Amino acid sequence: MDQATIDRLRVEDIPIQGHFINGSSQAAADGGLLDVVSPIDGTLLTRIADGTAEDIDRAVANARVAFEDGRWSRMAPSGRKKILLKLADLIEERALEIAVLGVRDNGTEIGMALKAEAMSAAGTFRYYGETIDKIYGDIAPTAADVLGLVHHAPVGVVGAIVPWNFPLMIGAWKIAPALAAGNSLVLKPAESASLSLLKIAALASEAGLPDGVFNVVTGKGSVVGEALGLSMDVDVLAFTGSGRTGRRLLEYAARSNLKRCYLELGGKSPNIVFADAPDLAQAAKVSASAIFRNSGQVCVAGSRLLVQEDIHDDFVAEVCRHARENRVGDPLNLDTQVGAVHSLTELEANLKFVRAAETEGAECRIGGQRILTETGGYYMAPTVMTGVKSADNLFQKEVFGPVLAVTPFKDEADAVALANATVYGLSAGVWTSNLSKAHRMIAAIRSGVVHVNTYGGADLTVPLGGVKQSGNGHDKSLHALEKYIDLKTAWIQL
Ligand code: NAD
Repeated sequence: MDQATIDRLRVEDIPIQGHFINGSSQAAADGGLLDVVSPIDGTLLTRIADGTAEDIDRAVANARVAFEDGRWSRMAPSGRKKILLKLADLIEERALEIAVLGVRDNGTEIGMALKAEAMSAAGTFRYYGETIDKIYGDIAPTAADVLGLVHHAPVGVVGAIVPWNFPLMIGAWKIAPALAAGNSLVLKPAESASLSLLKIAALASEAGLPDGVFNVVTGKGSVVGEALGLSMDVDVLAFTGSGRTGRRLLEYAARSNLKRCYLELGGKSPNIVFADAPDLAQAAKVSASAIFRNSGQVCVAGSRLLVQEDIHDDFVAEVCRHARENRVGDPLNLDTQVGAVHSLTELEANLKFVRAAETEGAECRIGGQRILTETGGYYMAPTVMTGVKSADNLFQKEVFGPVLAVTPFKDEADAVALANATVYGLSAGVWTSNLSKAHRMIAAIRSGVVHVNTYGGADLTVPLGGVKQSGNGHDKSLHALEKYIDLKTAWIQL
């Protein structure tokens, strides 16, 4: 990856983008288009199809036909595997091109986009491609005169709805296992971050995926998202996004065909630092990156820092020092560590949270304002707010921006109570050199993952999912396949 190549790719013209339905690019039924604005400098990047309910119906109908005629669902496993592995290779070959395209509409810093978006998506297609000829059903231990077979049947048509942060990584976490299990799919990306996913759909075709198996419909959540949620012919909805939209999807399912809904939602994750942490300097460094990487637009961000009273002031000073050292700026510049906030709306919402927290008595220790305004882009200084109380909005609500809420705690019981005092349960961090205490904390904190003496590490082999209002079900690992299969049994009298 070199700056000259990135600079060449960043100015490439992006033609108007249609939906990807039944193997080809198609305009919206009413010809409507949506502007795509670059968070890097606020300029118009391109336009995409502004989908309608009719477009969703067309995509779902094509997915259904493709599923029923077995062009993918009944293709020999070795053939399906070959196609997904080929797709992984194609993504990897064009990883930088895809990563730059994604950065242009979503603002993630290029180093992270290359690794966490393009290369991660390639790895995800490879991982699930490999499962196709390795995972199969069971023969139950029944009496000798009967045969109980447990088949892994694909569910049919999967609807996937994904957000703008890490669209490719999160998209691949749904597309790859859904396809590996033999399903057809209709994907709805976020309206402001569709470009890289449209590219993946075209590459899937190039890799040999039959037409109609993987369709992408772009447009507004309130229109195409709703139509997908209400479709009578979608069997499973796999969603990542806000709790607000997650609730809507459950309503859509109830009002339509009771489709299964898997929801990966938001978080307000506690990162708990005890005075006996093995390395406080390292804890401070990681605590800063846990919230500031990708401008805090990470579902598992460690957005609540709980620090034991005795070390609070020194530790916060160290976190602020790291925050100050973050190089925020143009995400396509290789020197940048933290890129843009995704949109002006998000930036304004972040700033509103900071001002409201100040009126609730919190102190803004660093940041708290928009920066680099002269670029036209949407950048925010890493922000640390201290004196945040458990009843405060900043403690309870997900900001989804570079804003850290700091709260002191007395002892282990206090830390657990504070950790669990929100409606969320996605991620947590615990820093201690006491192994017994670490295990007690893992058991006591209600969240999908608890990191110990680190924050944010993971790989594809480890499932990701939330509890409480952070959602249900899991992306990643072999467990993700469970969302996209039905256990179908046969009982045969011999
Ligand atoms: P969002 O809910 O606004 O949008 C997500 C997707 O839903 C988009 O494609 C959007 O167009 C669509 N949508 C919006 N309204 C809809 C409606 N009425 N019907 C159907 N679809 C609709 O969320 P966002 O702002 O794009 O993403 C940020 C949120 O996603 C944060 O809460 C973040 O924590 C969460 N997130 C969770 C995870 C996880 O794994 N748990 C990962 C990343 C992001």
